[in-house]
Amino acid sequence: MIAVPFHQNAAAVRGFAVFSRVVAVLICTVALVVLAGWCLDVPLLTTLVPGQHAMKANAAIAFALSGLALFLTQDFVPPRWRLGPWLSIVVAGIGAVTLGEHLWSLDPGFDHLFDDPVARAAGWPPGRMAAPAAFALTLLGVLGLLVSTRRYLVLRETIAMVLLAIVVSGLASYAVALASKIGGPFAQVPLPTLLMLLLAVLGWLSSSPTTGLTRVATADTFGGALARRLLLPSLLLPVIFVFVLELLQSLLGLPETLAFAFVALGSGGAVAGLVWWVASLLDKLERQRMESALLRNDADTDVLTGLANRRAFDGALASLLHGQRERDNTFALLMLDLDRFKSYNDDYGHLAGDQVLRITGQLLRASLRPSDRAARYGGEEFVLLLPEADAAGAREAAERLLRAFRDFAWPQRAVTVSIGVAQAACDDTAADLIQRADKALYAAKDAGRNQAVLAVP
Ligand code: GH3
Ligand code: MG
Ligand code: MG
Repeated sequence: MIAVPFHQNAAAVRGFAVFSRVVAVLICTVALVVLAGWCLDVPLLTTLVPGQHAMKANAAIAFALSGLALFLTQDFVPPRWRLGPWLSIVVAGIGAVTLGEHLWSLDPGFDHLFDDPVARAAGWPPGRMAAPAAFALTLLGVLGLLVSTRRYLVLRETIAMVLLAIVVSGLASYAVALASKIGGPFAQVPLPTLLMLLLAVLGWLSSSPTTGLTRVATADTFGGALARRLLLPSLLLPVIFVFVLELLQSLLGLPETLAFAFVALGSGGAVAGLVWWVASLLDKLERQRMESALLRNDADTDVLTGLANRRAFDGALASLLHGQRERDNTFALLMLDLDRFKSYNDDYGHLAGDQVLRITGQLLRASLRPSDRAARYGGEEFVLLLPEADAAGAREAAERLLRAFRDFAWPQRAVTVSIGVAQAACDDTAADLIQRADKALYAAKDAGRNQAVLAVP
């Protein structure tokens, strides 16, 4: 079971983890097939793609070990089987020794594992992988070591980027070679080796889907959705364009300028397509965001009065109490209850009563400062939160409200209100404060209604 942190897309996290496991098995399998080809002397198994260079046996061994390391790094493997770091060190070692052979003409006999007549005929050591492949496998070993030990995140991402650059350059060289029959500098690295490298790098990156660059690609945000859609196409598009360019020039015999013009047209179209894709995604996400904002607003609003409801009030009160504790920001709470409202309903009916509640909502809204918050607490009880108001300020606000009620031209008969005012104290809980305001409200009722009473702190 993979723990999915907040703001990560659960499906993407699981998808990446599964991809990583599949890649581990695939790399091992392909590497073992290549090794079987060398052992049983079946050339097609060593090249995998007919007519291409063979993947060297030591490269296949390194891939098999890297695939095994990747598999043993997965969550479900018991800790004592986590041999990933050690296997990755061996992978880096195989790459580094071969690189040493290239750079300093060392010959520890490592590259004579199996005889490769094609390489021998070309004057190369029989089993020595090309320098770029050796360099890439050294880096792959280090990448595996850093991922499986969960260390040096920035270094590990940098190595992954260098490896991807090697793979893309290699694939582009292949595209050129394939289209024009001229080998580029990386075309000596066998195609299966390049594809295995690509898979291995993506597999290692995906094995920890909630860290580093893959964290962005699995994020449950616009950035994440964008990365999931665009990263792979943007990695492969250059290769495709190089291939098309060479193909137009060499196979179809188009002049260079015309070939460039076609590729420019294609790349312009591709970029426009990607922009359109991003724009439609952005549009969809923005609409979802607006819909959820509307839903949130509905959930926080009282239908009859349009004021905040009890739920929203509880949240606002909690955040003011938090601010009071953290930053000593004082505030006041006013609790209002309409006077003799039951008899109003009895005399004029509930619909007329509802109209009074609506007007009360308007009067409260009209008397508020922008930072104040009014809510319908229950039936005909209302609350006001006045941030930064001291006792005198809160009292003044209460008097202003009383005046507004007295001055309003009520449809049937005058409606008055009683108000309990409480100033928040530093160790108050929400219940303490509401209870004090409620007590003051009852004191206002007892004192004859249509007045405000300030609670004793
Ligand atoms: P007091 O001055 O002591 O507050 O007297 P009161 O009659 O207002 O007493 P109380 O506050 O207990 O009355 C609440 C009344 O409010 C009862 C109910 O008929 C009325 N009421 C509650 N919710 C609504 C509503 O949504 N619409 C209408 N029309 N009336 C409501
Ligand atoms: Mg009441
Ligand atoms: Mg009442």
